[in-house]
Amino acid sequence: MTRICVSVCEKTIDALESSAVCASECADVVELRVDCLTRLEDLQRVLSRVSRPVILTFRPREQGGHRDLDHQARRLFWQTAPQTEWWDIESDLAPETDWSRVIISHHDFSGVPADLPEIYERLAATPARVVKIAVHANDVVDCIPVFQLIERARADGRDVIAIAMGNAGLATRILGPSRGAFLTYAALEEESATAPGQITAQKLRSVYHVDQIDRDTMICGLVGLPVMHSVSPHTHNAAFRTAGVNGVYLPFEVRDVKTFFQRMVHPRTRELAWNLRGLSVTAPHKSAVLEFLDWIEPNAEEIGAVNTVVVDDDKLRGFNTDAAGFIAPLLNVIDSFDGLRAAIIGAGGAARAATWALLQQNATVTLFARDTTKARALGQVFDVPYQSLSSAAFAGYDLVINATPLGSGEFIDQVPATAEQLAGARCVYDLVYNPIETRLLKEAAKAGCKTVRGLEMLVAQARNQFELWTGQSPDSTAMYESAAAALDH
Ligand code: NAP
Repeated sequence: MTRICVSVCEKTIDALESSAVCASECADVVELRVDCLTRLEDLQRVLSRVSRPVILTFRPREQGGHRDLDHQARRLFWQTAPQTEWWDIESDLAPETDWSRVIISHHDFSGVPADLPEIYERLAATPARVVKIAVHANDVVDCIPVFQLIERARADGRDVIAIAMGNAGLATRILGPSRGAFLTYAALEEESATAPGQITAQKLRSVYHVDQIDRDTMICGLVGLPVMHSVSPHTHNAAFRTAGVNGVYLPFEVRDVKTFFQRMVHPRTRELAWNLRGLSVTAPHKSAVLEFLDWIEPNAEEIGAVNTVVVDDDKLRGFNTDAAGFIAPLLNVIDSFDGLRAAIIGAGGAARAATWALLQQNATVTLFARDTTKARALGQVFDVPYQSLSSAAFAGYDLVINATPLGSGEFIDQVPATAEQLAGARCVYDLVYNPIETRLLKEAAKAGCKTVRGLEMLVAQARNQFELWTGQSPDSTAMYESAAAALDH
């Protein structure tokens, strides 16, 4: 059974009441973090409005709470605390009361303690109803001891809540219940998360469908740094749903890609028994992963980057779906690539895949980059000319491609080319997909050019990944719409 516990933490009793009522609507369990209240009053009033089982928590500041509380104050609180379904009591405070409602908890906000098994044993030796251990994941491999803890508790017949906090620990929040965790915590709103890495209950249900994940669920995910704001979980999970495939796709925030592949991915060396089927790979790991694979398709080898990994029995196979995904949206606007004159702005990974794909189609390519040393290096790889971006004019080009982050994130207000520079070009393709309608595309429309959106490429390359993992064709419209909805949000 999957339980989602929404944790609410408010300064005033009125705010706590209103959040707890909202939480009742989307949670299976509501945690009231009463240590957040500036004044402890009227808790019964709040409890009478909560229609779900309640965990009551009164956490001292030194253990991640919001109050300075000495031992005596904590003991007094629990002696007179309202009788909710569960009380979360830290392991240093042995309750002098009914253990049957106690979740005995241990938190480590700095990392995974070396003596994690001993901590579990100490907590499990108490008569507490549930053992809870929350540690901080500094890299994704820190999820391994947490999953192992859940396995061990299952074998011991103990109910356990085990979480790796932080973005790198997200897998434990999404997959924990399917592996036997008593519950997973969630936030009501993104900004009201009560612990690092906590996502909303709405996301857990409508993006990851945690209540449908079981031990047979095919697991896929995105490997990169950063990955938390990627729309790929929306795209791929929508594809799983519409294709009726029991699969889930989640972000893996990976710093050390070698260790990740060794300890969590490669079937011959991994320390985790899980139904991992495939990975998308994004910056900065697209080239680094090559050396950890057993087979690489020739296209990916030539491009020098893998963006898709398939786990096949005891082997890892690498593919590049960026090149085909890059070409696919152009087929709607370009009749023939033969002799097409393309200008690519940028000299990074996307420019590399785009150059390779266009040359395969017999197009001619010129690179434009702010750093001509990098443009020259990429130009030499593919034997194509390059120019400096600063004085570029694109008249006469059939296709102008933006393969820089300009127009997105911190560069949202910048354009790689103005309408004046684009005048006389036929088509502009912005690989940036967030926002969907970039400033460059607006400039291009002003200059009378046809336009192609980066989101189309994102979906096309994801579509190919999905086919490699499942052998099925996904619903591209569902993928596009779920990504667009996430970007609009
Ligand atoms: P990358 O490897 O980091 O390369 C980025 C390129 O942009 C580099 O040549 C970089 O030049 C240049 N650049 C960065 N900031 C710049 C600035 N302020 N002015 C001019 N040039 C600048 O990144 P990437 O993987 O190629 O990705 C590039 C863009 O394509 C990103 O926005 C990414 O999201 C997008 N993309 C989209 C898709 C899709 O499916 N739609 C797929 C892949 C990539 P320096 O080396 O001088 O910094």
